[in-house]
Amino acid sequence: MRSDPSRLSFEIDARDGDARAGRLVTAHGVVETPAFIPLATRGSVRSLESADVAGLGYELVLGNTFHLFLAPGAGRIARLGGLHEFMAWDKAIITDSGGFQVFSLAHGTVADEIKGRRGRSGTEGRVLEISEKGVRFRSYVDGSERFMGPEESMSVQAALGSDIALVFDECTPFHADRDYTARSTERTHRWLGRCLDWHADNGPPRQAVFGIVQGGVHEDLRRESAETVTAAGVDGISIGGTLGKDKPEMYGVLDMTLPHLDRRTAKHLLGIGEPDDLVEGIARGVDVFDCAVPTRLARHGMALAPLPGKRHRFDVRRSALTEDQGPLVEGCPCPACSSYTRAYVHYLSREQELTAVRLLCLHNLAYLRSVVAGARHAIFQGAFEKYRKAILGGAAPWEVE
Ligand SMILES: [Zn+2]
Repeated sequence: MRSDPSRLSFEIDARDGDARAGRLVTAHGVVETPAFIPLATRGSVRSLESADVAGLGYELVLGNTFHLFLAPGAGRIARLGGLHEFMAWDKAIITDSGGFQVFSLAHGTVADEIKGRRGRSGTEGRVLEISEKGVRFRSYVDGSERFMGPEESMSVQAALGSDIALVFDECTPFHADRDYTARSTERTHRWLGRCLDWHADNGPPRQAVFGIVQGGVHEDLRRESAETVTAAGVDGISIGGTLGKDKPEMYGVLDMTLPHLDRRTAKHLLGIGEPDDLVEGIARGVDVFDCAVPTRLARHGMALAPLPGKRHRFDVRRSALTEDQGPLVEGCPCPACSSYTRAYVHYLSREQELTAVRLLCLHNLAYLRSVVAGARHAIFQGAFEKYRKAILGGAAPWEVE
């Protein structure tokens, strides 16, 4: 691990079991942890303005290297002052490496979600070649041939000017066998070295770099990856890759990974962020989470709610809500619940009005923000276990004493 406060420092202010409350100090301000990170995939959090996201209390968003590389291009964003300036967001930004998206083209998982849009005939993105150097693929934007490897990913992230860059890695698919996962994890480790070498010579001096632990669902590979990444000169650690077929297996992968990471280091769980996952991750020592769930659910007319038996969500388009005059969730302090009824959001969502997506994004992001803020408060009080059980049991985060 590297300790360089001019890039990033992580202060732990309170511990409760393995859970921690801390502060991640970046070049663009402080991020209180535990934290959820909204996705600003293409330089915007879907349907919201940057000021809305800040207004919900968020201090860190995640930009997507793969999508911004293809359009509008890192060069254009750099010429326009970098991603902060471009999207008028003066708080912290983390960028993923693009590895997940590039390899998802090859591995064929959830293609539509990865591309964030329906395939266009003739310009469908696909991988042409995976080699030690990187990945050659066809752009889904215009069908052109593109290449991304460790150096290209770091170069794009440097041009975007994010506060935290992630190293380029392969997210091994769930169906990969142990041999494939082992070889892939070793290559990811070689790429980690190349990313750090490139960054040492060319990276923005105040940009921090997080390494990524891979290893699939295999305990020995996870341990080896955790030790390799910890031994490298990174500023923090993300946990990525296949985390198992269901939630118990995912928590198992966390249990086999986290004990091998430096306790003082900031830890980021990639792509996970449903309410139960947040409290289970925090209980195991995870500090920050990013996930498409709140914004993706909003597009599908779903609101987050304290409903553990229903995956903490409900469909606002249900007929039963046609004349329901209550808020989305009783007691929710968000702008949507403060002003509008379920009946209204139900109607807007059924009519596919843009405002429905906006109100549901505001609510879903406010809800997850409440979950992590409540966890932080509980950790300071030494009451995190009680809080975790309350959330898993169906309490709204603002109801827990
Ligand atoms: Zn709300």
